[in-house]
Parts: sequence; C-alpha cells; structure tokens
Amino acid sequence: MPAYRAPIQDIGFLLNNVFDADSLFSSMPGTVEVTTDLTSAIVEEAGKIAEGLLAPINQSGDQQSCQYNDGVVTTPDGFKEAYKAYAEGGWAGLTGEITYGGQGMPKTLSALIEEMSFAANSSFALFTILTTGATLTLSHHGSDELKLRYLPKMYEGIWTGTMCLTEPHAGTDLGMIKTRAVPNADGSYSLSGTKIFITAGEHDLAENIVHLVLAKLPDAPAGPRGISLFLVPKMLVDENSELTGERNGVRCGSIEHKMGIKASPTCVMNFDEATGYLVGELNNGLSHMFTMMNYERLSMGLQANGLADSAYQVAAAYAKDRVQGRAPSGPQQPEASADPLLVHPDVRRLLLTIRANILAGRSLSIFAAMQLDISRFHPDAAARTRADKLVSLLIPVQKAYCTDRGFDACVMAQQVLGGHGYVAEWGLEQNVRDARIAQIYEGANGVQALDLMGRKTVRANGELLALLSEEMDAFVASQAGVPAMQSYLVSLATCRKVLSDATLFVIDSAASNPEEIGAASYAYMELMGLTLYCFMWQRILAAALADKGGDNAEYLDGLVKVGEFFLARQVPRVHSLLAEIEAGSESLMAMAANQF
Ligand SMILES: Cc1cc2nc3c(=O)[nH]c(=O)nc-3n(C[C@H](O)[C@H](O)[C@H](O)COP(=O)(O)OP(=O)(O)OC[C@H]3O[C@@H](n4cnc5c(N)ncnc54)[C@H](O)[C@@H]3O)c2cc1C
Repeated sequence: MPAYRAPIQDIGFLLNNVFDADSLFSSMPGTVEVTTDLTSAIVEEAGKIAEGLLAPINQSGDQQSCQYNDGVVTTPDGFKEAYKAYAEGGWAGLTGEITYGGQGMPKTLSALIEEMSFAANSSFALFTILTTGATLTLSHHGSDELKLRYLPKMYEGIWTGTMCLTEPHAGTDLGMIKTRAVPNADGSYSLSGTKIFITAGEHDLAENIVHLVLAKLPDAPAGPRGISLFLVPKMLVDENSELTGERNGVRCGSIEHKMGIKASPTCVMNFDEATGYLVGELNNGLSHMFTMMNYERLSMGLQANGLADSAYQVAAAYAKDRVQGRAPSGPQQPEASADPLLVHPDVRRLLLTIRANILAGRSLSIFAAMQLDISRFHPDAAARTRADKLVSLLIPVQKAYCTDRGFDACVMAQQVLGGHGYVAEWGLEQNVRDARIAQIYEGANGVQALDLMGRKTVRANGELLALLSEEMDAFVASQAGVPAMQSYLVSLATCRKVLSDATLFVIDSAASNPEEIGAASYAYMELMGLTLYCFMWQRILAAALADKGGDNAEYLDGLVKVGEFFLARQVPRVHSLLAEIEAGSESLMAMAANQF
C-alpha cells in the first residue's frame, strides 16, 4: 500500500494562486501576520506530521480500536506518544487566542492542516478537532475568568475538549434534551443527565477533559430557547489552572462498537451532580454552540475530502501498476501480458471524478474558511456581517456536499482496486468506513439540506444567495478579457440559471404547500453543491491558465484536464437535479405510513 503523501503542491497552488490568501491575511490585523513563506513552512511541517506521525498508526489503530474497562478508556498503541508529540509541537493551539497562549492563525490555514490530519488518521484528528472547537466556543462566549483558567492548557494540548449535545432521545431535535443544571449557592451549577455518542468523552491522552455541555435549568422555557451551555471539567481545577486532585461527577459509562473511526472513542457520558460553569448567557446555549458548529461542520467536509485524497493516492498508483485486459484502441504495452487499468475509460472516469471533486471540495472549504476568518477578524464591520451571511449559506452545503462526494470518492477508489479494494490489506475499506460518519454527525446531511433550503433560502428570501451571486459576478467580470476562459464560463452560467430556476420554483410552490421545502431540499443542496464546485473549478482553471508556462507546466496542464473533465461530465447533472426538484412533493407524500 503506498504511503500517504500530503498534497503540498495542491495546497500551495490553491492558497497562493487561486485564493491569493496572502493579501486576504494582510487585511486582517486580528490574526497573526501570515505571509506566503510562513504558510508554506507551516503546511509543509503539518504535512510531515500527517505522513510521519499520524499515518503510520492509522491502520493499527483501526484494528486495535479503543478499549473500555470500568470507566477507563485506553487508546490504541502509539496514540499517546503521537498525541504528546503533536501537543509539544504546538499544533493544539494553532488557531487559539493569542492572549491566552494560542497562536492566532486563521482558519483558512488550519482547515488545510485538518484535512491532512483526517486523510492520514481520522480517529486521531478527531481528538484535536473537538478540542479546537471547544476552545473556540469558550473564547467567544466564556467569561474572562473561565478563559484564563481553561484556555491556556487546552491550547497547550495538556487538556482536551468535547461537545456534549446528543442524548438517547434527542439527536437532531436538541430542544428535547433532559440534562438538568441546578444553580449552586457559589454561582456554579450541578449537572445531571446522560449524553451519548460523545467523541473523545474519555481517553488516556490528556490529564483533563473539558466538556461543553448543553443542559436546561429547572425553570427554563421549553424547547430550544431553554437550553444553556456549561463547562464541566472531568477533573476539578483551581483558580491557578491546577488540578485539585478531585474527580468531578462525570464518568464514561461505555463506548460504542461502530463501523469506522474505531480509534476515536464514542462515549456514553453520565453526569451525576457534576460541577459546571455557565458559558455565555442563560438559555442562549444553542446559539453559542453554533459558533463551534460552523467550524466543526467545516471540519467534517474536510474529513471526507481528506479521506478521499488518501484513497485517491492508493487507487491512482494501483491503476498505473495493475495490468488487466487491453486498451480499447489496441495494446498499449504489447510486450506485457496486459495493459495497466488506467487505459480503461471507466477506470479513468472513477479516478477523474475523485480527483475533480477533491480539488473542488478543498477549494470550497478554503472559500468557506476564508469567510469564517473575515467574519471574525476583518476590521470593517460591514465586511464581517457580509462574510457571516455567506458562512451561514456555505456551511450546510460544504458539510453535506463535501461529505457525500468524499464518501463516494472512497467507494470509487475501492472500485478501482476491484476485490483488492474490499479486503483490508490496501486500506481502502477503512477509508470507506471512516468517511461514512461524516455524512451523519454534526447534523445529518438531510438536515443540512433542509437548513439550506428552508432557513437559508426560502425564509431568507434569496438574500444570502444574492451575496453568493455577487461573488460569482465579480469573478466572471474579472475574466472578461481572457478568451481561453469564455467557453468554460458557459458551464457556470448554466449552473446559475438552473439554480435560479430551482430557487424560484421552490419559493413559489412552498407558499401554498409547506412540504415542498423538505421535498426539494436534498436535490437543491446537491444542485447548490455542484454549482459551487463549478465555481471553484472556474477559479482553478483561471489560475492555472494565468500561470501556464512556468516550472510546473505539467502540473498545471493536468489541472486544466481535470477541470475540463469536471465541466464536461459532472456539470450536466444540474439538469436532472432540477427535474427532481420540479417533480414536487406529491409522489413522496402519497404513501400512507402503513404502506412502508
Ligand atoms: C461516531 C459518532 C460520533 C458523534 N459525536 C458526537 C459528539 O461528539 N457530540 C454530540 O453531541 N453528538 C455526537 N454524535 C451524535 C450525532 O451528531 C447525531 O447522531 C446526529 O446529529 C443525528 O442525530 P440522531 O442520531 O439522534 O438521529 P435523528 O435525529 O434521530 O435522525 C435520524 C434521521 O432522520 C433525519 N431527520 C431528523 N429530523 C429531521 C427533520 N426535521 N427533517 C428531515 N430529516 C430529519 C436525519 O437526517 C437522520 O437521517 C456522534 C454520533 C456518532 C455516530
């Protein structure tokens, strides 16, 4: 099995040539000064960690998985050492607030590092991603006292973080949670209840685990507006951020046996009058948690994209090496007993689809991460508000579309290897199992699609879409004098027209039938995803054409060929998606419950 290679060239090209990240970062004084040189150095170093530290314990971690014994969770061999090296390398606090010991790097950069970590070892990456998300929420909504007490050690990686939302009876519908928080005389709260499916809820990598927990006060309003957010440490902490030695009332009851990410413990967490501290405002916990969720959702798209990339690398190498059958146009290697798999058009279809979607998915993730950075760091309030609106439109699409395409890519890569893709030796069956969860957690993809269609499109009355249109208009205008781009831009115009027709159809039909939104939502998310991927490919093609003739001519020529494949063979799917949307809700709702 070929070893994972970090996609340094792709990342450098996207950051520098396609997105001109340097000038974006220089306009945001809130973050550290990020120059092209610094970015390249960090990405290269992170690539080495992914290749040399995380990938070598990926397959063994899957085979050994986490073990549970009487409340104690043990990670697979090598995880502790790798985590120590990762934390000592300063990676845990990369995007953290500088005041509390973080390094203040933008998400745009850390997103790419996350993708490489997920590609190399998704289970390991989850420990770090959850901690980053928890620190971010604390940094946005916690009091200065809580931040001072918890953030520095989390940024150092000495303590890790979790997010505790899900309960046995409340997954998507968090308004139904039952975990109770009772106020104590000293201003703290006592939390009692059970959370399930908590990633990294218990483990042996860190001396403390900081749980961010959604719970309700006894007199809280019913539903989502009665939910508050609390910080509940596993080990109690004094005012100097030292462990008191006293264990808090939170324990892991068991871990799940599951399809993939087996080296990531998925825990049942029992809270029994555990001491917790309010984060942010009472009854506003769900919206505080959303700070974290936009970042976490972006990470899920990156997980699937990373796994697609590591799967692609195996499949592409295999297709060049494995010989079976002859090329349709006649033998390509007459001296050998057969030609490589790569001569077969259908094998090329698989590989090109994977590669095209990886590059578009990575670009969309960078684009969304940039909006997150602008909405956080930009000095101009209007720019921040605009970026925030774009984030709210882009994140559900990036989460759902990148995870779907990433999972498909892992299955396609498996297909390239035939039966050898199905057996464990080549590692691709693990990619398939590890990628599957990304479509489910952080809000299942069907719910992301509903959010996009209902809240972000119909209820926003097209306002958010108009902002995206402005971005596309500006790009199209910038290409007016580039003859080579004009035929490519036709594809973008097609996508935009179809998306506009679909939007008008749903807004119109939803006015008389509320079921139309849910009926259209998944196809609409896919249509928006395909349109955004097309937009990303336009940007890649423009940058590749502008740079052609340099040292990396073969690389750029390859990019142009992948882009042309995408526009020719993937974009036409927008028409079938429109037809599906226009078919309406009737055939979906016709069956009675007892007919299923
Ligand atoms: C490995 C793993 C790790 C996880 N890590 C965490 C974690 O760290 N912290 C945490 O809090 N949770 C975690 N989760 C929980 C995860 O986020 C939930 O499983 C997920 O949000 C879906 O909730 P549910 O499983 O209860 O499904 P349900 O809410 O029961 O949904 C089931 C299906 O119905 C669909 N559905 C539900 N409501 C609607 C609707 N209104 N309209 C249309 N379709 C709908 C959903 O799309 C889904 O396909 C994890 C789960 C797993 C498996």
